[in-house]
Formats: sequence, C-alpha cells, structure tokens
Amino acid sequence: MVAQQYREICKRIEAACQRAGRDPNEVTLIAVSKTKPEEMLMEAYGAGARDFGENKVQELLAKAPALPQDIRWHMIGHLQTNKVRQVVDKVCLIHSVDSVKLAAEIEKEAAKRGISVPVLLEVNAAREESKFGFFPEEAEPALDQIARLPHVNIQGLMTIAPYTERAEENRQIFRKLYQLFIDMKSKNVDNVNMNILSMGMTGDFEVAIEEGSTMVRVGTGIFGERQKRENL
Ligand SMILES: *Cc1c(COP(=O)(O)O)cnc(C)c1O
Repeated sequence: MVAQQYREICKRIEAACQRAGRDPNEVTLIAVSKTKPEEMLMEAYGAGARDFGENKVQELLAKAPALPQDIRWHMIGHLQTNKVRQVVDKVCLIHSVDSVKLAAEIEKEAAKRGISVPVLLEVNAAREESKFGFFPEEAEPALDQIARLPHVNIQGLMTIAPYTERAEENRQIFRKLYQLFIDMKSKNVDNVNMNILSMGMTGDFEVAIEEGSTMVRVGTGIFGERQKRENL
C-alpha cells in the first residue's frame, strides 16, 4: 500500500516535470512520516525512499536509530531553540529556520561540533497568522544576517502554502516564492547557496513543481491520513 503510493507520487512528479519542461532529477521527494510507525517508513524505504521529513524533534530522535543509516532526515517543523542541540547533527537539512535567534542557536551548536548545518529560511508567503516564517519582505534582511554565521549554510527557501482543496489557488503563492528565491540567488551572498526551493505538499505538489519547486514534502499522499489535522 505505502510502497505503491510512493511509486504513484514519483510518477506524478515525473509527469509534472514533463509538463513544465523540467528534469525530474531536479525535484527531491521527501516522504513526510510524522505520526506514522516505523513499519510504514520501511515500506516507503523498500520502494526507494531515502529522504524522510519529521516535524517533531522527539519523534525524529526516536525513529532514526531504528531505521537504515542511509536515510536522510529532514527537520520540517517549527524548531524551538532549546531543542537545537539534540538535532543539529542528526539531520541533513533544517527547512524551518524562522528567526535570526534560531539561526544563532544553530550556529552556536554547530560551532561546538565543528560542523556546518544546511538550512532553509521558512517564508510565510501567504502571511497567515497561524504560521511561522519570515514575511517575504523580512526574508532578505534575515538572509543577510544569517549569512554571516560561519557554521550555518543557507541553501534556499521553504514555504507551507495555505491548506486548500484546489491546488490552483496556491499557484500565485508558489510563483511569488520562486521570484523571491531567484532575487536572492542573484545577489550571490557569501556563504549562501540558493539551490533548494522546498514547496508543495500532497494537495498541491504538482502546481509547486510547475512553479519551480525543487523539494516536495508529501505525507498523506504516501502514508494516508493522519489522526489529527493539528498535527500538520
Ligand atoms: C505535515 C507536513 C507536510 C505534509 O503534508 P501532507 O499534506 O500530508 O502531504 C509537509 N510539510 C510540512 C512542514 C508538514 O508539517
């Protein structure tokens, strides 16, 4: 079931790339496994999944040791500063840097370990009150400040678009974020590699790909519904 759904999502990603004239290798599928048991993650792994996304530090730390070591873990949920030290060397990418203060904490913990931590800046593109992230106009000043942190490496932007039944409604949001991404990339700031644009979820990943996404985060489409929507 999970394996089949994973393969189905892969096919839809390829088709969206084809429509948009893009190379499917430019788009990474992250299997968002929050709230789901290890057996289901292993089913996705069996179908080829190597990138998994979790939104809670405790859950990520509980799952990771029991699963294959070649899995790349992505922290996609809001990260509290007091939890940074627990995950900073366990994940391949933190998608959810939503304040300069959080970036400073990552710097501190990364410096202690002598590592460089890849991060994305989370942008609240639709200005939703319920969501974390920089407003679009705050993103560039934040980038300038965070770029100065030697052990934090900005690799791109992430957004969580509004929940909708109709993916088309998010097209303008994705387009806006892509434009911001391109603007920031063209600035060529030192210690910044603007290569990753993390946008698109189960309901809208195809539209996101058409608008330039390079990472889609799909949970429900692979693993089925979660218990509570508040676990988004
Ligand atoms: C849960 C979650 C997703 C996946 O959502 P689905 O609609 O189930 O695909 C993607 N990104 C983030 C940040 C999430 O928390």
